[in-house]
Amino acid sequence: MTDFVDEPGRRVPVAARADVVVVGGGPAGFSAAVAAARNGASVCLLERYPYLGGLASGGMVLVLDDMCAGAEISVRGLCEEMIERLRRYGLAVYPPEPERGHDPAMWRKWSRWGLFDFNVRTRPHPICYAASFDPDGWKRVSDEMVQEAGVQLRLHSWFSHALVRDGAMAGVVVDGKAGRQAILGGIVIDATGDLDVAADAGAAHVHAGYMVTTVFRLGGVDTDAAERFQFEHPAEFEAIDKEARRIIGGSWDYWWLKTPLPGVVWCNCPHMTGLDGLRIEDLTEAEFEGRRRIHAMVEYARAKIPGFAHCHIVDIAPQTGVRQTRLLEGEYVVTKEDVAGRVRFPDSIARGRDYYTPYRALLPRGIEGLLVAGRHYSATPPAQKVSREIPPCMAMGEAAGTAAALALASGVAVRNVDVGALQRRLRAQGADPGAEVALVAAQ
Ligand SMILES: Cc1cc2nc3c(=O)[nH]c(=O)nc-3n(C[C@H](O)[C@H](O)[C@H](O)COP(=O)(O)OP(=O)(O)OC[C@H]3O[C@@H](n4cnc5c(N)ncnc54)[C@H](O)[C@@H]3O)c2cc1C
Repeated sequence: MTDFVDEPGRRVPVAARADVVVVGGGPAGFSAAVAAARNGASVCLLERYPYLGGLASGGMVLVLDDMCAGAEISVRGLCEEMIERLRRYGLAVYPPEPERGHDPAMWRKWSRWGLFDFNVRTRPHPICYAASFDPDGWKRVSDEMVQEAGVQLRLHSWFSHALVRDGAMAGVVVDGKAGRQAILGGIVIDATGDLDVAADAGAAHVHAGYMVTTVFRLGGVDTDAAERFQFEHPAEFEAIDKEARRIIGGSWDYWWLKTPLPGVVWCNCPHMTGLDGLRIEDLTEAEFEGRRRIHAMVEYARAKIPGFAHCHIVDIAPQTGVRQTRLLEGEYVVTKEDVAGRVRFPDSIARGRDYYTPYRALLPRGIEGLLVAGRHYSATPPAQKVSREIPPCMAMGEAAGTAAALALASGVAVRNVDVGALQRRLRAQGADPGAEVALVAAQ
């Protein structure tokens, strides 16, 4: 039994061992850890921050979307379980089935929740199956689910180094209050969102980027008054709202959305371009510039926007809103044409709205015992921009964790997992890897 890992100039104590080591406790990593543990593997989940959720909690990204194609719900499994558990606590809201679609009355009722399909070009967009949720609710439910599954959770643990022995993963080294610690395991799942583990292990990747956002929430908002003003005085509303969007300097059409907490709204803005989510200087600048714009916006909102006279900042997200940095160049690189063309891969193991993710897009080339899941999966930068929402990242995580457990159970390397068996297992546990392709592959 190794109790130390030797690094140049020092010995690093081994703090934990598991069959599967998952790095990053965001939507993808949480799903990978729970899926692997439920399928019988011993799992250690490492997270740098003091809570689970990643961008869904610390990043305060508070709408789950990209999980339906018209009336068909295309992402199920752990994502659906998370939504239902949140709903039971009164901390997730989604439109009931009869209220989805193009009815203008339903647009008025639901659009300020952000629960519409913006991929459908018609205006107004159709109300769809999407869920607004509370970030602390997400933390609570993830705590419960990892505990129930028997996952060994280690928070406050910053991944810093990949342990690779003869081309295969042997574990990772993390940094924290306790100094450097080694966590050993023969299968590692990189769910850091920025490909920290795979990049350090030497996996091929591209370094790209997209806009960065310091998300925030406002409280003390009279949302009924604000909605009345919007729908009953559209011309006046448009002029005031346009100025608000100019001040914040970049946002989607709806810069504020309702949340399950009364009087608290989610602001998915400002959008800032030209910043690299891996550069400390850029991340620092994003925080300063974001906060400056938010304070200016709040002053304007108090003075001018009906319903916002007594608004105040509840919080500015502690995790910077980084959408894209490093992307794996794995066994298959998903293209924008694949996403737009809804290409059905024989090894499809996860879906978004109407597109499919092949198992090969979770597999780095040339390194054994390593899988990736989440927003850094193997896709071109334009493809990732349109396929990186929370539900598909959870679906990838569920597939990666299940694949790791299947590899262990059948004594094969993760790259040699029987994909037909993986698809069947995913379907049996309530996930949707893409039924029709799976049937073809199984014949
Ligand atoms: C501003 C913004 C708005 C968005 N809007 C939406 C939306 O409305 N709906 C939607 O569904 N999606 C939205 N997205 C996309 C979505 O939030 C992300 O793509 C998704 O959360 C990715 O999940 P993930 O688990 O791959 O990564 P993340 O959520 O980034 O999680 C990565 C986890 O790894 C941890 N980690 C990272 N590095 C290390 C390290 N070195 N050591 C230890 N732990 C580490 C992080 O702390 C985090 O917990 C938005 C994203 C942003 C930034």
